[in-house]
Amino acid sequence: MASEGPLEIRDAATSSRPSLTRLTRSIHLSSLKPVTTAGAVDTLHQKTRHDERRLHIQLLVAVFVWTLLVASILLWSQRSVDSEMLGLARQEAIANFNKDQAFRVWATTHGGVYVPISERTPPSPYLSHIPERDLVTPSGRRLTLMNPAYMLRQMMDDYNELYGVKGRITSLKPLNPRNAPDDWEREALVAFTKGEKERFEVTETGGQAFLRLIRPMPTQEGCLKCHLHQGHKVGDIRGGVGVSVPLAGYLAVGAKRKQSLWAGLSMVWAVGIGGIWLVGKRGRQRILERKGYEGRIWRQANFDALTGLSNRNLFMDRLDRALAYAHRQEHRLALLFIDLDRFKDVNDTLGHTVGDRLLQEAGQRLKACVREMDTVSRLGGDEFTVILPDIAEEISTTLVATNILAILSQPFELDGQEVHLSASIGITIFPQDGEDPGMLLQNADTAMYRAKAEGRNIYRYFTWEMNRAAEGRLFLESALRRALKREELELHYQPILNASGDSLVGAEALIRWESPERGLMGPDEFIPLAEECGLILPLGEWVLQRAAADLAKWDRAGLALSSLSVNVSTLQFRMKGFTNVILELLQSQIHLRSRLFLEITESVFMDERGEPDKCLDRLREQSIRIAIDDFGTGYSSLSYLKRFPVDSIKIDRSFVRDVTDDPENAALCEAIIAMAHHLGIKVVAEGVETVQQWQFLHDGGCDFVQGYLFGRPMPFDAFPAFLKQHLPMEAPVA
Ligand code: C2E
Ligand code: MG
Ligand code: MG
Repeated sequence: MASEGPLEIRDAATSSRPSLTRLTRSIHLSSLKPVTTAGAVDTLHQKTRHDERRLHIQLLVAVFVWTLLVASILLWSQRSVDSEMLGLARQEAIANFNKDQAFRVWATTHGGVYVPISERTPPSPYLSHIPERDLVTPSGRRLTLMNPAYMLRQMMDDYNELYGVKGRITSLKPLNPRNAPDDWEREALVAFTKGEKERFEVTETGGQAFLRLIRPMPTQEGCLKCHLHQGHKVGDIRGGVGVSVPLAGYLAVGAKRKQSLWAGLSMVWAVGIGGIWLVGKRGRQRILERKGYEGRIWRQANFDALTGLSNRNLFMDRLDRALAYAHRQEHRLALLFIDLDRFKDVNDTLGHTVGDRLLQEAGQRLKACVREMDTVSRLGGDEFTVILPDIAEEISTTLVATNILAILSQPFELDGQEVHLSASIGITIFPQDGEDPGMLLQNADTAMYRAKAEGRNIYRYFTWEMNRAAEGRLFLESALRRALKREELELHYQPILNASGDSLVGAEALIRWESPERGLMGPDEFIPLAEECGLILPLGEWVLQRAAADLAKWDRAGLALSSLSVNVSTLQFRMKGFTNVILELLQSQIHLRSRLFLEITESVFMDERGEPDKCLDRLREQSIRIAIDDFGTGYSSLSYLKRFPVDSIKIDRSFVRDVTDDPENAALCEAIIAMAHHLGIKVVAEGVETVQQWQFLHDGGCDFVQGYLFGRPMPFDAFPAFLKQHLPMEAPVA
């Protein structure tokens, strides 16, 4: 209850009634779709895994694309080097070809050259058809004709020997069979006849690579000398001239260029891979950061920051899951709703820090009472729940509940102080007490309130009869709202006399509700409810207004009442602006001055943060008097009387009742009276029913008396007549 904000003033158990605000909240809960928090964890992990996987894939793709790109550049560059080298070799081949061509043209234009016949230059048998093939010089030297082909072949042989460049003339109809084409040359020669201008290839000869180039050889005028008989005409493609250039040199240069390319591109590749790795590392970092962040948010959303237990969110999810499982397995499940008794008082008297420590310790103790598979949650304030997902026998639940009660009633050692606590437990069982989480929780809450109502520090199993009672309270709340509007409320007045009973000193206003459905109801039946649902504030104001109006009427009727006591609920007193409400009332109702008594209970003093002493001072400055009602029943100590400014105390009727039979009560009453007088505070005894009680109080020095002996609370109209009939009373024998 303590966690539910400023409206939650007293332990709801003091009202012995289930809280309707809680009830409605529970009903509201049942309509809540539970957040699948465990599912959320899975989703969180899954999402992270998915993100990591996606990042890995992206990185792999990036590495692949980068490698492909670099490899393509390398390949392309290598090919460029190759084609550049080939281009250079081709240029060399063309240069050679041109040179050959020039020689050949020269030789053709001159009809060939005559050279001395030697072993190397014998007369060509293929030119035997030429009459002037061999000549003898006048000096007797023998010369033979070298036609361009013959001459060129020899030159090319030399060139080959010297530089490795081979050259050759070939023809489809060679004069010299050595000039017959090979397959590649034949193909090229045929292509030349169709108009092609050049062919080249890389070939291997004798284990060495060559670039072989061949170009067509057109028949010229000079060629006919040797080739006319073959049927050639000027302009015919008579054959081709081929040049083979060794590639070794170019390949060596190319290889070096490729090596540098490899080295350069490898570095570029490595830099790229490094970049990708860095991006991947950062990406992973971000995923982990986000995971951590989301995890923190998730923890905040699902765990109670104070106790570390699962919170309402996670509890609802666990309950939902446990119910689904129990449903499938046809198991029974128990839900325990635990509320600490009078925790609010601990919080108020010992402070919130101690209160927090107590909640933490209580949470730990609860966890120690259950199995690993059971879920302990803190729903808020001093409310805890335990889910026992699989219970074979009801007795095992009873055992857990008994254990919890026992362990929580062991003293808590906090800041060197021993704090005693107890708890009330409501229990629901699935499936008999509800099948959905909302209903089970609501019913457990109802059962917990029954436990409170039946004395606290006990557990109660839910019964459907309890629920009907709770529904009744819901109905009552809306009826009370209507009652305020429809003026179904009224004030009764009970006289307060001096101890001798011979003079009326005042009256106490006591609220009644004339309900059309339920008849006349006393405050005990609806004030706690009004406090829980917030109606106490409008109700309290109504009482003040009505009491002021009634007093004014009596004044006009000549019944000069010297004081009028009005009960103020602690919640009402703590309301912001309460003092101002009273002071404004005094402004508008001047006749109230010095005559208004506000009856508050000791619990008002427990909220020291609200500075009750200051409020009381302000009220008393304006001549409003303060009485402590039900004195002796609260949590506070007598020392409060010293610290807080009050005018009178009203000894609770539970003390007065036994004052003549119980010597302890008698001693207590005497002590209270003595101490109050010592502090200058007047004493009223309430609930005086017998002359003996009156006698005792009178003898003990009590200042004022109130009780059925002198007059019951009565309607406004009956009050004056009653006074005329009954006062003065015959004083008890001294
Ligand atoms: P209280 O202020 O202590 O009022 C005295 C209660 O004792 C009254 O009960 C009264 O009828 C009853 N009483 C008086 N003399 C005797 C007696 O000789 N014997 C017995 N057995 N009872 C006696 P009531 O009217 O039912 O009121 C109960 C409580 O409800 C009050 O206790 C007060 O705390 C609260 N209450 C009453 N009216 C108001 C109100 O207007 N505002 C607030 N906030 N609380 C109210
Ligand atoms: Mg009272
Ligand atoms: Mg009282």
